Formats: sequence, structure tokens, C-alpha cells
Amino acid sequence: MRRRNALSILDVVRHQPGVSRADLSRAVNLSRATVSNIVDELISIGMLEEIGAMNTSRGRKPIGLNFCPHSRYEAGVSIEDGKCRIAICDLDGNPTHRGAVNIGKQLNSDAAAKLAETVENLLQKAGGTKKRLGTLGLALPGPLQVDKPVLGETLPRPPKKYAGFAREMEKNLGVNVHICSNTRAAALAEARRGGLELDGWVIFVRLGHKVRCAVALDGRLVETESELGGDLGELCVPGNDFTCQCGKVGCINSVAAADAIIGLCQQRGLAVETTNQLIALVQSKDADARDIVRQAASAIGYGIATTINIFSPAAVVVSGPLVESGEAFWSVLDKSVKRYALTENLKRCEIRKANLWKEAEAIGASLFALSRDGLLPTLIAQDKAAIVGSMANDNALPEPVDEVALD
Ligand SMILES: [Zn+2]
Repeated sequence: MRRRNALSILDVVRHQPGVSRADLSRAVNLSRATVSNIVDELISIGMLEEIGAMNTSRGRKPIGLNFCPHSRYEAGVSIEDGKCRIAICDLDGNPTHRGAVNIGKQLNSDAAAKLAETVENLLQKAGGTKKRLGTLGLALPGPLQVDKPVLGETLPRPPKKYAGFAREMEKNLGVNVHICSNTRAAALAEARRGGLELDGWVIFVRLGHKVRCAVALDGRLVETESELGGDLGELCVPGNDFTCQCGKVGCINSVAAADAIIGLCQQRGLAVETTNQLIALVQSKDADARDIVRQAASAIGYGIATTINIFSPAAVVVSGPLVESGEAFWSVLDKSVKRYALTENLKRCEIRKANLWKEAEAIGASLFALSRDGLLPTLIAQDKAAIVGSMANDNALPEPVDEVALD
């Protein structure tokens, strides 16, 4: 309860810099004494500061309060194939320091120690210590099973469990660790800091190891019950007869997931081991490489068209290395979207490249941690998401009609 009151107080001060204790007490509907106690505590840990006498028309001069975003730091880390990107952010979610480290593919206690050491070094550069670290957010390749038991074999792939690694990090840094999928982290950063202040639905599509998506509504990421959702790449494309790793035939992932693309290149005798090498070949107009990228773009376009038909979003934002492969990718994607999306929905929707995809995941992980701590309202909580879901269902259901009796 006390924590919730503290968060409400912080929220009011953030939105009304210079607010007095008396106004604060009215705004949060708590007694002056309670507010004063909590405010004193927040001042003692540096999250609030008192500012000089405020001028009022009545001549009384109450002391105002300000929020101090630099009093603590949040760290966000993205990990993929052992490569970590780190962003140290202030309490407004603005990155102040960035770094990178390779910890190897085994996420064991050595890897956790190495990552923790790098985070601490960055914190020191930022002028802090781990005492000033609030929380750590980890962005990892999805789908994820964060803390509950694995659901079973009904899933196309067993979700990866990272709880052990998160606990190691908690031990090393002495803070709470929150895990989210890298797609959702990227979406959060893009929605919050990518210059994308759009109302309505925005769909984020990330072209990584798999093709995955996340959705935001009115600038906030919609939280799902687990990190298992968003597998856009498991949608089957008409006419695609490639077999996917999941065992099904025709999934978007069978021609557009990073490892599938590399496999297709190798089948054609191309010396390609990374998506970046493929993009270099596309740019040098290699016919096979262009073919492979166009095939991926066509399948991804079908997936995007489907999200457009379901959500009628204001924008679809696409991130990942393939978005750098130029016209070969974008012209085919565009054609495919036009073929499958409803024209009216498509007219209202802008499809664009992500603004900060390389950095987005680390920054997004720290935003996710802030949000989980209640310090930044960037997530739409499950209950709200559920309400939105049920409203959509109500609208979709036609009113029951009495049968007309025929004479
Ligand atoms: Zn599949």
C-alpha cells in the first residue's frame, strides 16, 4: 500500500513539477501527514527534491517538489547469440550510457558474472554505483516462458527458460530483474522513443531468428499474460510449400526466419553465413540472393497484411537486418501487402522501417523494467488489455436476430 502511495505521489510530482505538499495531498487523496512521511522518505533517497519558495497570490510561500530522474538508474540488456547490448537509462527512460559485451552462448553463472561486471563498469562511468541501480531489464529471443512451468509439447518449439540466468543476475547486482522478449522490448523503445507518438494500434514486426510481432495501443505496449505471444511467423502463407522447423508446411518462418534464409542461401550454393552477408550480395545484385530476399518479403507482406486486416493499425513498424536490403525487399513487401490487405485499412496505415532497431532492445528492456516498477506508464496491464479484447469481441458479435416465421 505504501509503495502504491509512493508511486502515485511520484506520478503527480512528475506531471506537476513544483507541486506543494498540500496540493499533493489533495491530488492523491491522502492525509497531509501520510503524504509528508512518504515525501520525506522519497527526498532522503533522492527521488524528490524541494525547490525554493513558490510565489502564490495569497503571499504564502509553500515549498514545491520536483522529481529527480537522475537519482537512480535502470539498466536494460539485450542478449542474442551471446552478444549483449547494454543501455543505462535515467528514470525518465532516457539512455545516458551504452555498452556491449560478448558473454558466450551458454547463459551460465560465468556469463552472468561477466555481464554484471560490464553493467557495473558502465554505472561507474555514469557516475553511479550498483546501489543506485533500480532494476535490470533483460530482453531475450522469444517465445519465452519466464517463470511458470513449460506448457508442454503442444507448442511448435519449446519456449526457452531464462529464469536461472535472471536469478544469477539478481544475485550479482542485488536488484530485481525483469525479463521480456526482444520483440516486445524493441516495440516498447520504438513506441516510446522512436518518434512514433501515434494513437490507435501500432504493430511492430521484428525480423530476427523468427518473425515476431508486438502491438501497442495509444503509445503503450499491450502486455500479454506471458511472453509466448506474437509468433507472427507461424502464420501459413498461401502457395508456400516450404517445410518450417516447427514441422508445419508454409509458415512465414520457413522462408523469412534468419536461419531459414541462411539455409536457403546455402542450398543455392551461396557462401552466406549471416543475414548481413546476404544483404551485401543483394546490394551487389546477385540474382539468387535477390530471389531469396524477395521470397521472404512476400511472405512477411502476407503476415503484415493479416495484422492490418485484424487491427486496422495506424502504422506497422518493421525492424531487423532485412529492412536494410533495399528495394528488392521493400517493393515486394509492398506488393504483397497490397495483394492481401483490405484497401480501406491499408489507406489508413503507414508501413515503415523502425527508427532505432539496433539499440531498441536494450533501451526497451530498461523501459520494461521501469514500467514493471510502476515508474513509467508504458505498458497496458493485462486487465486493461483484457477489457480491450472483450470490447473488440462484443463489437464483432452480431445482435441475435429472431427468426422470421414464414407462413
Ligand atoms: Zn512454423
